Amino acid sequence: PVVMPIYGTRPEAIKMAPIVAALKKSDVLDCFVTVTGQHRSMLDQVNNLFGIEPDHDLNIFEHGQSLNGILARTIDGLEKLFTVNRPDAVIVQGDTTTSTAAAMAAFYHGIPVVHLEAGLRSGDPSSPFPEEGNRKITSQIASLHLAPTEGSRQNLLAENISPENIVVTGNTVIDALLATVEKNIPFVDPVLEDLAASGRKILLVTTHRRENQGEGMQGIGRALARIAAAEPDLTIVLPIHANPVVREAVLPHLEGLANVLITEPLEYGEFTRLLSLAHIILTDSGGVQEEAPSLGVPVLVMRENTERPEAVEAGVVKLIGTDEDRIVAEVGLLLHDQESFSSMSEAMNPYGDGTAAERSVAVLERLVLKRSTERCR
Ligand code: UDP
Repeated sequence: PVVMPIYGTRPEAIKMAPIVAALKKSDVLDCFVTVTGQHRSMLDQVNNLFGIEPDHDLNIFEHGQSLNGILARTIDGLEKLFTVNRPDAVIVQGDTTTSTAAAMAAFYHGIPVVHLEAGLRSGDPSSPFPEEGNRKITSQIASLHLAPTEGSRQNLLAENISPENIVVTGNTVIDALLATVEKNIPFVDPVLEDLAASGRKILLVTTHRRENQGEGMQGIGRALARIAAAEPDLTIVLPIHANPVVREAVLPHLEGLANVLITEPLEYGEFTRLLSLAHIILTDSGGVQEEAPSLGVPVLVMRENTERPEAVEAGVVKLIGTDEDRIVAEVGLLLHDQESFSSMSEAMNPYGDGTAAERSVAVLERLVLKRSTERCR
């Protein structure tokens, strides 16, 4: 039996890489990796790092691509692929347009859909942003839901998903993180290597989220400029997202500031090393909220809500929004109030122990074996 992982963006690639590795070790299942190329270069970087050579590449990326364009090209490409190459199951990850499009294309072909990182909910039903809708659509058509936490299992149960189709596995992001941090990958840019050696405090910042584009990112840019001026002993490192909308909003605020280091998006190996060296993380990323707790680094999340409440409940993540004054105040508190810093950095990681992929593939193997015995009867 063949399982087809389908993915297209950097975060999906990171979280799918441990699944691909576990499938390749399986005696029961074959693995056929298909990528869409929704994020072209950032996706390829991750595949290279994990030694994954896709078996099929839909190569749908276009400059200035719209979500509907991504959806249409993914469905069209998979339609052609499934008619010649029909897997026994597809596995999709998370809440991107690639993952929902792939789930829909497989569903219309009657191919079972396995949803990795199922059951996340921001709880904002009126959100105009696509992620929550994407998650819910995939939940409606998936046959197996691999939920990272008990909370995500409960979200699925509340939407009448059958309990026997949900398995709590932990999040594969921890598998990817632990395997990568262990390698202690050197920085390509000597400035980062010097920074690591200097022992200076690092504030690591990432921003890309659609809901922060516009005024949110202007506020983030202004706040960073104020923090840089007020904290000369701190170095702010900002690996800037490839999306030009992000660059145009944030970068003009940070020109010429000596203690702000702007880099291109870092390769995952370098980025995780930087995560482990950071004193504080300021982000609107989903994956970073899950990774940093494993490394004991406090995370200030520049969003109003999160579909990852476990780390907030554990105390290592704090939601602070994008208001300029609030960002400046919260970073200041962590820098200067030891008690606040300790209580966040000592909290537990709620996303698993790095064995989520093994667990997920074991469930898939059992399912496939059960199906083939049923067919023989
Ligand atoms: N990441 C990376 N390089 C960077 C910034 C982030 O490899 O320069 C990784 C990060 O470790 C995390 C993932 O990319 O695993 C998060 O991606 P992103 O923030 O783009 O998406 P989200 O998780 O919000 O969907």
